[in-house]
This record gives sequence, C-alpha cells and structure tokens, in this order.
Amino acid sequence: MTVRLTARAYRVPTDAPEGDGTLAWDSTTLVLVEAAAEGATGLGWTYGPTAVVPVVAELLAPVVADRDPDDVPAVWSAMRRRLRNAGRPGVAGLALSAADCAIWDLKARRHGLPLARLLGTARRQVPVYGSGGFTTYDADRQHRQLAGWVHDQGIPRVKIKIGGSGGSEVPRDLSRMAAARRTIGDAAELYVDANGAYQRKQAIRVMRRAADLDVRWYEEPVSSDDLPGLGLVRDHVLPDVAAGEYGYDLAYFHRMAPYVDCLQIDVTRCGGISEFLRAASVAAAAGLEVSAHCAPHQHLPVAAAVPNLRHIEWFHDHVRIESMLFDGVVGAGGGVAPVCLDAPGNGLALRAARAEAYRVA
Ligand SMILES: [Mg+2]
Repeated sequence: MTVRLTARAYRVPTDAPEGDGTLAWDSTTLVLVEAAAEGATGLGWTYGPTAVVPVVAELLAPVVADRDPDDVPAVWSAMRRRLRNAGRPGVAGLALSAADCAIWDLKARRHGLPLARLLGTARRQVPVYGSGGFTTYDADRQHRQLAGWVHDQGIPRVKIKIGGSGGSEVPRDLSRMAAARRTIGDAAELYVDANGAYQRKQAIRVMRRAADLDVRWYEEPVSSDDLPGLGLVRDHVLPDVAAGEYGYDLAYFHRMAPYVDCLQIDVTRCGGISEFLRAASVAAAAGLEVSAHCAPHQHLPVAAAVPNLRHIEWFHDHVRIESMLFDGVVGAGGGVAPVCLDAPGNGLALRAARAEAYRVA
C-alpha cells in the first residue's frame, strides 16, 4: 500500500480588519493536507503560512509513503522523528498536526466509520463559545456580533479581545468589556482574551476594575511564556485563567498545567489528534479541563472524544473560512455543535471549485 500525503494552501481575506492585543491581520491562510490510500482520502488542515506546504512535501510525505495508515501511532512517530532537526514548534509542528489529522481521517474513511466513532465519544454534542470581538471592531460591529451569538443563536458564552495596542488602551478595554456585558445581558458568560498584552500587576488591576462585569474567563492575561506570571494572575482574580494555544508538544502542556485554571489545546498546532488526546490526559492528571483553540471543525471529533473537555472556541474567522471551503459544516445553535456520526471520517468535503479562487500554494 502507498500513502500519498499532499498539501496546498488557501488564503481568505477577513470580512473586516481583525486584531487582538498583540497582532493584527486582514487575511487568514488555511493549509490543507490530504492523505490518500487505496481510493480513500483523509482531510486535515492547519492555519499558518504557506511554508507549511513544502514541509509536508519534503519531510513528511516520504516517511509516510510506505506505511500502513491504520498504524496511526507508527505514522505519527515517523513524522515526528523526521522533524527533529527542522524544529518541532512552529511551521514543522503545523505540518505534523495537519498531517496527523489527515491520517486519522483517512483511517476512518477507509473503514467506513465516522471519525468520532473511531476515536470514541464522551459526548455527541460539543459546547462552544462565540469568539471574536476584535480590538479593530467599532462598538456597533462588536454589538452585532455578540448579539448574533447570544440572542440569535442562543450561544450562552462569548469572548472578546482586550489588551488593545499591546496593553496601552486599558480605558478602552474596560469600556468595550462593559459594552459587551450590556449587549449579552446578565445570563450569558463573558470571556476576555488579552493575547499576552498586559504586564502582571496591570492584568490584575484590569480585572479588579472590571469586577462588576462578572468576567468568567481571562485568557493569556500575560504572555504565555511567563508561567509564574500566569500563576500569579490566576491566584489574584476570580475568572478562570486560561492559556496553551501556542503549545506545540506534550512537554509544553506539562509545564503549563500548574499555572492555569483551564488548558487550551490547538489540534492544528499541538501535533494533531494523536497529541491532543495525550495533552488532554496531561491536563486531566493535573485536575484540569481543556478547551479547544480555534479551527472548530477540525476539533469536533477529537473534542467529542475527550472526557475533560470544557468547550470549543467558535472563532469567527475560522467558522467563516471553514463554511466557505467545506461542505458538511455544522452550526452551533443553543451553544452546542453536533458531532458527525452519519458519514465517514470527519464528514467534510472540500468545495474544490470554490476553494480554487483562494489558492496560493
Ligand atoms: Mg487566545
């Protein structure tokens, strides 16, 4: 048997300028990896630069070619070994992650099983939170987005970005948080994400000044490289402190777990479904729940498989792109997304003709 691993990239403009505390962007690139064997094709993807494409072609495809794709741990280990000298975190890790997701999907499709069935389900509907509220939005756009999630779709938890301009706009952060609370009412949960923009005590002061807003989730209040800082903030504020979206290997999550209330894992960065499951176990051993970061449709099957999952991030930018590029996407009405249990694999199919207009590699 021969397994063919191929990659290509699609760049989709945002529907409005998007930004957070430490980065701004006007387009997003999805790198799609296909794993094909004996007439079946598995799909996996990541969000990252087009540089992921040659990593798949040059480093991963050759070591996968002659393996049985049912032996997912053997395939994963061969790919990880091959990346040693390229450096696992970063572009190589994105490639590994998308390839592992494609191999899992290929196995499910070859056996005619929904991927969620192959992995086994802890739940058949996955809780989500609406995520957007970019620092680049004006008040009206933020209001319409949050009202859409909470009042139109019934999603009972939403997140906005704070820490604007590297943490130098605290009064605006506080007024945007207050506006978000006014929009969503008292019943929905308000989450905020500073993307590492604040300093340690600044982060604590911001949350004290926001005490009447009942914020429940405080993501990357300080840089996720500052583990003692995350721990300090966690111990001095009421909302749960969360981090982990830049985790590229298991040791990262093991190091971070003692400093957060909820560990975030991104299946498109951490090393794919294989490593997501192990990272979730690391969290469980520390008594933590995990939350899936971005790429909602890539997360659904593995999120359904993890007993200690809290929710998936229903990220505006990625929900939009995945809805444009794939058939088989789902909604999140009522705050839960159903897991595909009636089609092979992840249940998605690339809308190839439409996607071609966005192809960049
Ligand atoms: Mg974040």
